[in-house]
Amino acid sequence: GFIAKVKRENGREVRGFELRVGGGLSTMPRQADVIYDFVPVENGEYIRVTEAMIKVFDKEGGLPNFLRKNMAKARVKFLIKKIGIEEFRRQVEEELAQPWAKEPLDMEALTQLAPEGPTVGEPPANGRQPAPEFDRWLKTNVRRQRQEDHVAITVTVPMGNLSPEQFRGLAEIMRRFSGGSARTQQNQNLVLRWVREDALPALHAELTAIGLGAPEAGLIADVVACPGTDSCKMGITSSQGEGYALRDAIMEMGDDDPLVQEITVKVSGCPNGCAMHHLAAIGLQGSSFKAGQTQIPCYDIFLGGGNYIGGGKFGTRVARIPVKRTPPAIKKIISVYMEERQDGESFLDYIDRVGPKYFEPILTEFREVGPISEEIDVYMDWGKDELFEVIRGEGECAL
Ligand code: SF4
Repeated sequence: GFIAKVKRENGREVRGFELRVGGGLSTMPRQADVIYDFVPVENGEYIRVTEAMIKVFDKEGGLPNFLRKNMAKARVKFLIKKIGIEEFRRQVEEELAQPWAKEPLDMEALTQLAPEGPTVGEPPANGRQPAPEFDRWLKTNVRRQRQEDHVAITVTVPMGNLSPEQFRGLAEIMRRFSGGSARTQQNQNLVLRWVREDALPALHAELTAIGLGAPEAGLIADVVACPGTDSCKMGITSSQGEGYALRDAIMEMGDDDPLVQEITVKVSGCPNGCAMHHLAAIGLQGSSFKAGQTQIPCYDIFLGGGNYIGGGKFGTRVARIPVKRTPPAIKKIISVYMEERQDGESFLDYIDRVGPKYFEPILTEFREVGPISEEIDVYMDWGKDELFEVIRGEGECAL
């Protein structure tokens, strides 16, 4: 991990990064260790240090076959847990003393970026009327750029799903409104930069025409979900189905409370945590519960995770709830928070104050399940019309 920093040396400003290594989520959430608190950008020192870290990892920290014997454990975090950050740093420095680390780097070539800027010419006037959600979208999806008259807009992409038609439509929109480029976001949305402010009504109308004009970017309803059983063989549950169900339930609540809006919700279909549910205020991890000969699809609910400046905090597991009961369970968590919070208290501060486990008894009512003859729906996952079964194979990722 790289955290940009600036420091003053001999009266001049030096740019660099704090370098961290060995963090990760999945079955062993772990905070990254700081290996160097400042590595300068100039001369590409940060690139050499990074390369040295990769070399140490490739050599398995001097422990033959420690990482390669089990693919699931081939992660830097396991190596650092084993040998410690001091030993890892020592080995990195040994690498940095090798001849390869003395070779000059062509920084100009390495740091070249494709030019970005606005689309040339007048903003397109397409004659469409702004869609009804235009005002809300302006509030939630548009950010002013430093450059006058230009804004960056977020395209909300629920669960990160785009159809081929939407991709083609987006390409056309990018050419006309954002200089031909877009950026992806970690939370599955897209950002179009360099949009002319006076083109916003036309742009929103175009996005709405291809089904991408939804507001709520980065807010509670903008649930993040991994592919889950829809396409990932490691999946236990349909995290995509869960994501849409939670999005609908949250939208139904229709609450515009700003502190509720900043709650993050992320859904992973198994403990590997590709949706980063450990870092969500409300995180869900696919799991199951055995009921006699049958299995019930469930989610383990984690509360209190989040990103902070300088670090992250992992959520704490509080309950295992059947999939079909999770929308009311999440609504309950939100309503308890709204009733009990102190003035201006954020959800994360509230969870810190009461402790995540406070919710264990509150969620008990959602755990009860009747026999299959009475509640067959609870024994099926979202979008499925057959009884749930855990079937796992090889995943999309390296695990
Ligand atoms: S391996 Fe990752 S993508 Fe697949 S279900 Fe698990 S968390 Fe989701």
